[in-house]
Amino acid sequence: MSVEQYPDVVMPECPVERVLEGQKALVTGSASGIGKAVAIAIGKAGADVVVNYRGGADQANEVAAEITKCGSRAYAHQADVSNEDQVKDMFRKMIQEFGTIDILVNNAGLQQDAPFDEMTIDQWNTVINVNLTGQFLCAREAVREFKRRDVVKAVSCSAGKIICMSSVHEIIPWAGHVNYAASKGGVMLMMKSIAQEVAPFRIRVNSIAPGAIRTPINRPAWETREAYDKLMELVPYKRIGEPEDIARAAVWLASDHADYVNGVSLVVDGGMTLYPGFAEGG
Ligand code: NAD
Repeated sequence: MSVEQYPDVVMPECPVERVLEGQKALVTGSASGIGKAVAIAIGKAGADVVVNYRGGADQANEVAAEITKCGSRAYAHQADVSNEDQVKDMFRKMIQEFGTIDILVNNAGLQQDAPFDEMTIDQWNTVINVNLTGQFLCAREAVREFKRRDVVKAVSCSAGKIICMSSVHEIIPWAGHVNYAASKGGVMLMMKSIAQEVAPFRIRVNSIAPGAIRTPINRPAWETREAYDKLMELVPYKRIGEPEDIARAAVWLASDHADYVNGVSLVVDGGMTLYPGFAEGG
């Protein structure tokens, strides 16, 4: 039985209100999963979008084509977010093509799981380099451009917005995934420290901390009935999250509707961080 047939799973529609009209966005790792949904939702909301990917040019081009159908401009750009030169080139090209950047969604991420005492230095470095250093490299380029351009009132109240894709594992320890949890814990304080530093320049920096979202990164956790039921023991709301649940939050955070929201992690997790084990007794 496929998960799509489960009666308790709903697929919410993405917003169509064009609250990001005229803005330019870069979404890293947006050929699949959450990044794909975020890129499409931001495009539907009126922004032109750079669809960054590392592998899978066809998928990335499809995402760009879907955004173009909604009336926004989009193109796919290959770059490894953990490579400084490639990140700089990606921003240079975006500024050439679109003139500037208003919204960065630092979404690219991966897992390389192992019991702690078997974790290799390569597994540790790869996860930290992509999930944490990659977000640093992209955020730094974005802030440089936001400061150079300053606020353009006709476009947005702020000079720029950064959304870091974190995880509930910036809060919840995760045995067997020490490198991943460390990277997301790092994202939390990196995000808050950047937010504190650049707020006077009217730059907003926030995170989204998703719970369990149905994407390729965690397929084993939802693809069988048994795995899905086990996962639901951790989710008080009793459904898995869909990438569109995160996309809605991203559009709102990037928009001027969230203009006074700065330096927060918006948890979107169906209550996973509510300590479901304490629901009865404790
Ligand atoms: P995903 O695997 O579909 O997406 C991750 C994307 O990042 C992929 O397209 C991958 O190619 C890309 N990527 C990996 N390394 C890259 C690199 N060096 N440069 C550029 N792109 C690279 O999985 P997803 O669930 O959509 O993950 C997106 C983000 O959401 C990640 O940061 C992940 O940690 C976070 N997240 C996911 C969940 C979940 O339950 N799915 C929960 C919490 C947080």
